[in-house]
Parts: sequence; C-alpha cells; structure tokens
Amino acid sequence: LHHAKAAGRDTHRFYAEAMNAEAVAHLSTRSGLRRALDRGEFLIHYQPQVSLESGAVTGAEALVRWNHPEKGMVPPGDFIPIAEDSGLIVPIGAWVLTEACRQAAAWHARGLSLSVAVNLSALQLQRNDLVATVTRALADSGLDPLLLELELTESMLIQNTDLVMDNLRRIKAMGVQVSIDDFGTGYSNLSYIGRLAVDKLKIDRSFVADLTSNHDSAKITAAVIQMAHSLNLTAVAEGVEDAETLEALRALRCDVAQGYYLGRPGPAEAVERAARQVNPFKVGA
Ligand code: C2E
Ligand code: MG
Ligand code: MG
Ligand code: MG
Repeated sequence: LHHAKAAGRDTHRFYAEAMNAEAVAHLSTRSGLRRALDRGEFLIHYQPQVSLESGAVTGAEALVRWNHPEKGMVPPGDFIPIAEDSGLIVPIGAWVLTEACRQAAAWHARGLSLSVAVNLSALQLQRNDLVATVTRALADSGLDPLLLELELTESMLIQNTDLVMDNLRRIKAMGVQVSIDDFGTGYSNLSYIGRLAVDKLKIDRSFVADLTSNHDSAKITAAVIQMAHSLNLTAVAEGVEDAETLEALRALRCDVAQGYYLGRPGPAEAVERAARQVNPFKVGA
C-alpha cells in the first residue's frame, strides 16, 4: 500500500472499500446472529401439514425467522447461509430443535397430537453431538420421539461418512422420523433411501407448483408418490397453492400436503386453531 503509484493506489482503494463494505455487512450479520441468539431475537413460524385422506392437520413444519430490531422479520434464506459459514447454525439449530419440541409437547398437553418437523443443516448432521442435542431436546420437553421429524436434503447425504450414517441410525433408533426435503432436486442416487430407513419423501415445490399445467411435473409427482408407497414411505407434497392442485394430489393418493393454500407459516396458535377443526380446508368435500 505504502509505495503504490497514484493510479494503482486508487484502484487498490476502490477494491479495498468494496471488499470492506461486503466484509462489514457479512461481519455485522455474523455478530448480529450471535447477539440475536443471546437476546432471543429468533422465533419459529409453523406451517400446517394436512392429511389428504381425512383433511385433518397432522403436524407442522418449524421454520425459523429472525426478528431483527431494525430490519424486522428476516427470512431464513437471508441468514441461514451466513449461519452455516460461521458455524452459528449449530447453536441456532439446537435452539430451533429445543423450541419446536417444547411447542409440540405443549400441543400434546392441550390434547393435540401433532408432529413437528425441523430442518437440519449439513453441519449439524456432521457433528458427533447431534444425538445428544436431539436427546436433550426430547428429554427437556417430554415430547414423544415419534412426534419429532427431522428434515434432511439429498445433498446432505452425499457425504455419507460413518459419522453421518451413525447419527442417522441412532436418531432412527430413538423413534424420530426422518424425511427427505425438496425431493427430486438433488442427488439422483437413491440407494440411501433403503439404507437409511427414511420415513417420508417431501416432493419439491417446483414439481407441485405446476402440477396441474405441466405434464412432466404431473408425471414426476405421480412417479415419486408411487415410489414412496412401494417403499412404504409417506409422500408429502410441498408448495400447494390452490384447491385444484390439492385435488390432483388427492387423486394421486399423495398422503400429506403443505402449502400456502393450507396455511402460510405463522404463529403456533394458527396451527392449533386449524388442528381443532375436523376438515378445515374441506379436503375432498
Ligand atoms: P424448506 O424446508 O423447503 O421450507 C419450505 C419453504 O417454502 C418455506 O420458506 C415456506 O415458507 C415456503 N413455502 C411453503 N408453502 C409454500 C407455497 O405454497 N408457495 C411458496 N412459494 N412457498 C411456500 P422459508 O420459511 O422462507 O424457508 C426457506 C428455507 O430455509 C427452508 O426450505 C429451509 O431449507 C430453510 N430453513 C428454515 N428454517 C430452518 C431451520 O430452522 N434450520 C435450517 N437449517 N434451515 C431452515
Ligand atoms: Mg423443510
Ligand atoms: Mg422443502
Ligand atoms: Mg424448499
């Protein structure tokens, strides 16, 4: 920096400032995430999951949000990648797990047997304290392990190291359910499904969204549902936005649906209200 020529110095300064702005933004989010955890700025929105046979709400997916003091509600897509880079996803993920188990246990205490699905990050799956974290969340809340579901993505199973396989085996042995999120968008090697004794396939929103207008999406969705059933797995459709799509999925014998049409992610109370009704979304009626 000290002996740079004028032009070079300007160029250098330009890049230095640009990099600095980016680094500062990144750092402020990272330290912001740390602070957010300490100050309790995270919260969970729950999205209902609905049986396509009975129309009843059977559970909910826990989706984390950051209620930032200045920026307001920050969606996970804006901070999960930074949390993953910095490793903070580990304590944030543990908080989500603990809080989601506490909520599902509270529903159970109020007479509602609803499952709760929690998204895991690759980093969590690769740690040797994952089983202890899950065990603690279940013990602290008193939740029946059968009511907890962990969502993984196909890409997380590419690193099928002994540690990852062992974590999944031990989690399954506890009775916790395992589902594959965004199914159909990742890894095409399906051998892990049998090997890992997965319980559910969540058909990615990209196939479900245009199910009623795109022949390929309809064929893929039908094939995934058939495959799930022949392996004794539950088929879940994500991203159901209208009644027509819901009806098409029911005709395809899909088991469970989730999407804006059935309820946007929101406070736990909204799930509870829907769960107390017989067929709140008039499925098949
Ligand atoms: P995901 O697990 O696939 O969750 C579904 C996302 O689709 C959610 O976005 C949900 O709000 C949205 N969605 C649900 N129904 C519809 C619909 O009908 N139409 C459309 N257009 N979108 C719908 P959200 O809450 O922004 O979460 C995005 C992603 O962030 C999640 O995708 C998940 O991968 C990740 N995420 C959320 N919470 C956590 C968490 O606690 N831990 C980790 N590791 N990741 C999380
Ligand atoms: Mg998910
Ligand atoms: Mg998904
Ligand atoms: Mg998704």
